[in-house]
Amino acid sequence: MSIAFLNGDYLALETVRISPMDRGFLFGDGIYELIPVHNGNPIGFNLHIDRMKDNLSAVEINLDWTHDQWRKICNKLVDKNGAGNLAIYLQVSRGVDTKRHHAYPEGITPTVFGFTSGITASQENDRTMVVPMKISSAKDRRWHHCNIKSTALLGNVIHFQQGQSEGNDETLLFNVADEVTEASTSNVFVIKDGVVMTPLLNNQVLPGITRLMLIDMLRKDGSIPIKECVVTMSQVRDADEIWLSSSTKEVVPVIALDGDIIGNGEVGPLWEIAHRLFIERKFDY
Ligand code: PLP
Repeated sequence: MSIAFLNGDYLALETVRISPMDRGFLFGDGIYELIPVHNGNPIGFNLHIDRMKDNLSAVEINLDWTHDQWRKICNKLVDKNGAGNLAIYLQVSRGVDTKRHHAYPEGITPTVFGFTSGITASQENDRTMVVPMKISSAKDRRWHHCNIKSTALLGNVIHFQQGQSEGNDETLLFNVADEVTEASTSNVFVIKDGVVMTPLLNNQVLPGITRLMLIDMLRKDGSIPIKECVVTMSQVRDADEIWLSSSTKEVVPVIALDGDIIGNGEVGPLWEIAHRLFIERKFDY
């Protein structure tokens, strides 16, 4: 049985109840975080909590819990749910109000919810064994605050579903200028002539922790050049390799976009180098 956290209590997940007057339910008025745990060890814990605290300030939800307070909750969730490979999901909504009114109410207490779910182990660091992705593309029709990890994810849900309905694993998004932003649940890396490019951070892109870690690892390693820059649709379609990154999938190669092969249609050699770096160094963060 899975044990969840709600406002200070640890409860069987099936028994957890929140009010329908919670602004998270009524408005999607909340933020969330997802921290991967491999064999009981969290990856990038402080980076995830830093991002969550930035998000809380960005949407003016007053909850000033320290990293230590969050760590205790996460440790307890891991203790109670087994030390395997887990994703810890943490969500903070603005709280429960007595009426449905858009303005931020005064004096309500944020709702804090956490639970864990199983995730798969790292993929094999082998071009012939890894399970690559095939993806769709779409015009990015989400809101203009994609840098905030908001629980209001309907835009992302619609985009993700488009890929699924087309028989693909993800959907890559392009802005009005035909520049790639990210995918519906992942950041993107585009590789051409030995250089790795990833879109710059702005309001169109979630500052992914996996992205941040991979850029840092590649820069410290120095064997593959990495640039944060505008990446156009034609650069994406002409790429030698494309990778997607997220806390649950780590760094995954993509071999087809909208049914067209990427590069020679096989997982590329630079993916293997970047993925090896990632799996070797992920616990340093
Ligand atoms: N971009 C979007 C839209 C996401 O939903 C996610 C993860 O959920 C990411 C990027 C990757 O972020 P992270 O590496 O922090 O998991």
